[in-house]
Amino acid sequence: MISFLQIFTDFLFPKICLSCRNKLERKIDVSSDFCCQKCLNSFEVAPSTEEIENGLITFFQDSLAISRAIALYASHSEDENIAIMRLIYKLKYGGFTKIGTEFGRKLAEVLEKNKMLDYDLIIPVPIHKARRRERGYNQSDFIANSVGEVTRKPVAYNIIERKIYTTTQTKLSLENRRKNMQNVFQLKNKSDVQGMKILLIDDVLTTGSTINSCATVLLENKAKQVDVATIVKV
Ligand SMILES: [Zn+2]
Repeated sequence: MISFLQIFTDFLFPKICLSCRNKLERKIDVSSDFCCQKCLNSFEVAPSTEEIENGLITFFQDSLAISRAIALYASHSEDENIAIMRLIYKLKYGGFTKIGTEFGRKLAEVLEKNKMLDYDLIIPVPIHKARRRERGYNQSDFIANSVGEVTRKPVAYNIIERKIYTTTQTKLSLENRRKNMQNVFQLKNKSDVQGMKILLIDDVLTTGSTINSCATVLLENKAKQVDVATIVKV
């Protein structure tokens, strides 16, 4: 039952879709608090895990450190004008962390469907601490938190650090992106990942250079397997 107070609150503070700016309708837009059903239905579904993994194998060949990879949605570019990317930019730079929280829940459902649940640890890909200071948060922490909650797996927010502040990679060539990401991450003192199956969480998977660099550090520290889950595969 919808209370009078709820109707009153909705009237004063109507919730809007962060993608198309239309007002959310209580009866139609039940599956999300920030995005209307129409927009959610319009997002391109991600390629299959096999398809994503084959792309990674082709790109990284012998230096591939990721075993399995999964995504919720697909986008043909990182352009901010694409509806799904608009939400990612709001999650990253606009303070709308709720986008990460809710997409994290959807990502957990997709992980369950694909039987990707056998993990000892979930790790959000870290951002550099200077960038965290500037933004106030790491967007991937919110996605990982939901995935951990739904799948009931522990999340480690602080065991890897990003030691090099990389500038935006969008303009770099694919080969340079890969080179640019070598030795960017390190495991923090005394963190132990030996023998663990780990799921890395990030908002976007483009070439996979960032995530593969992170996975490489985990394997070098004797993790058993590193898989990846992201919101968007570009
Ligand atoms: Zn919408």
